[in-house]
Amino acid sequence: EEKINLAARSPDDLRCPVTVIMGHVDTGKTKLLDKIRKTNVQEGEAGGITQQIGATYFEKKTLETQTAKLNATEAFDIKIPGMLVIDTPGHESFANLRSRGSSLCDVAILVIDMMHGLEPQTIESLNMLREKKVPFVVALNKIDRCYAWKTCKDTPIRDALKEQEEGTISEFRSRSADTKLQLAELGVNSNLYWEMGDDDWCNSDFIPLVPTSAITGEGVQDVLMLLCQMSQRKIWKKLMWCANLEATVLEVKAIDGLGMTVDVLVVNGHLREGDKAVFCTLNGPIVTEIRGLLTPPPSREMRVKSEYIHHKEVKGALGVKVIGNNLDKVMAGTPVMIVGPNDEEEDIKAEVMSDLTNLEAKLSTDKVGVLVQASTLGALEALLQFLRVDTQPPIPVSAIGIGTIHKRDVTKISTMNEKGRPEYATILAFDVDIEKDAREHAVDMGVRIMTADIIYHLFDQFTRFMDELTAKRREEASAVAVFPSIIKILPQHVFNQKDPIIVGVEIVEGILKIGTPLCVPALGGLHIGKVTSIEMNGKEQETARKGMSVAIKILNEGNPTITYGRQFDSSHSLYSTLTRASIDALKENFKDALEKDDWKLVIKMKKIYNII
Ligand code: GDP
Repeated sequence: EEKINLAARSPDDLRCPVTVIMGHVDTGKTKLLDKIRKTNVQEGEAGGITQQIGATYFEKKTLETQTAKLNATEAFDIKIPGMLVIDTPGHESFANLRSRGSSLCDVAILVIDMMHGLEPQTIESLNMLREKKVPFVVALNKIDRCYAWKTCKDTPIRDALKEQEEGTISEFRSRSADTKLQLAELGVNSNLYWEMGDDDWCNSDFIPLVPTSAITGEGVQDVLMLLCQMSQRKIWKKLMWCANLEATVLEVKAIDGLGMTVDVLVVNGHLREGDKAVFCTLNGPIVTEIRGLLTPPPSREMRVKSEYIHHKEVKGALGVKVIGNNLDKVMAGTPVMIVGPNDEEEDIKAEVMSDLTNLEAKLSTDKVGVLVQASTLGALEALLQFLRVDTQPPIPVSAIGIGTIHKRDVTKISTMNEKGRPEYATILAFDVDIEKDAREHAVDMGVRIMTADIIYHLFDQFTRFMDELTAKRREEASAVAVFPSIIKILPQHVFNQKDPIIVGVEIVEGILKIGTPLCVPALGGLHIGKVTSIEMNGKEQETARKGMSVAIKILNEGNPTITYGRQFDSSHSLYSTLTRASIDALKENFKDALEKDDWKLVIKMKKIYNII
């Protein structure tokens, strides 16, 4: 029943799919977008390609001419009325294309640099696409970097591959196989699209791979064809135009002469001048009348005369600029709703706020944690997902915010210092401005502000900071912390009896480390000295574990006369000297360095040393 004949319906019933380009930085997302806009366009303005607000619109006939060469061999129909490609590549924009939890993006291109394979943001993007169940094509970009690649400008990829020498083909084969394997390791099945049956990518979760060059255009037709085919064969139900408004705020911008405007992507339904619109702000919902609906003029010549065209009414899917009052606090990435004649305004207000309300509710769990501040609700949600779910161990978040960082935000998070968790007196700021006095206040209050405009960089920074902090704390603690161990001297391996004592020992239990003070509990806790070196098979070691035999050097600076064979000998077991403080330091900083049996040993030794 999936094969319903779309052509039999009125074209008005189908809307154009919304497409986003995602992937790691520098994989070629921007170049690919440019290329898609320019393929087969010789000079001047592209016919059938219209610049909208935040998106580029491709008419059906443009999609047809753009894929004409490929169609000569593949023979496919394009049934969708056009395609809307979001102008800002990257997963933040994907995150913002949402309305009440569901994604307004219909299909996506995930760009992978063929020379690099999967990178951190590739995986982030993959997770987002999978979570929102958005079908996508993988562009294995930069194919032209394969050894001795012969350029075949704007050619379908299989034709271009036919022109290549064997060496080039074999590099391409091995690189695409590597990527396929990396994807498989993440549970994503994929294949070069022409090596899979139509049914594989239409009716299963197999992801089609398309080698591309965003510079010379090989494979770009194939990507477009696959996006069209996926749209009309895999998700056509979602593309049935419906009158219920589905719209999301892409950006809030001040425009000379117009004041604060809101760029909106309308996916379904209409917006009309005079509509009573409801928007989401951090301070609650606002209700305002739509005073104008604008799009850029279709061609460059017209752009000289007027900057925008005014519309009485627009219909999804398209990008449009909305003018109205009180729009300055509207948050990007939130839904737009209209109060209709039969609607209760209060219900609509609650609905518009629901994404934010849900997010705040989800957050109530972390009592201590960093403050996360982002430019848009979608970006904030994406960040929280990465920090609290995808990052291992998760980074706890105690507070969230959207927009510019003010002094009061700094004050709020500085309380982490008083709570004894100075590491969380940190603001992770994503793509937002920081007020000057907020910066100064942060220095005074001991609050760190980390900024980035790539999500990955932000948690990278914080993780690095935490790692450094842990290392520093460990170093401080290692002066105090003593690992538990019981060792036995091997009497036939006594190399030096005193100052320093050098003996072969077996680690009977626990972990012996350089710096460990040793004593003999059986002799009233006689202090033997500190381990200053550990050697195994002639190699210096930091650590020796249960079962190992090593040579150790013991120095007793306070009492250099202590001598093997006089005060003690091989009949005595040597124990690490534990104290309350040393055990606390172990617990604080080396929890995962000790195994279960080591902790058991700590408990046993606590009794021997009478530590309460
Ligand atoms: P983005 O960060 O993903 O948007 O990447 P860009 O589109 O800015 O491209 C990053 C760099 O890779 C630029 O220097 C591009 O010229 C280069 N690049 C992008 N696509 C290709 C490609 O297909 N082939 C080659 N050789 N270089 C490319």
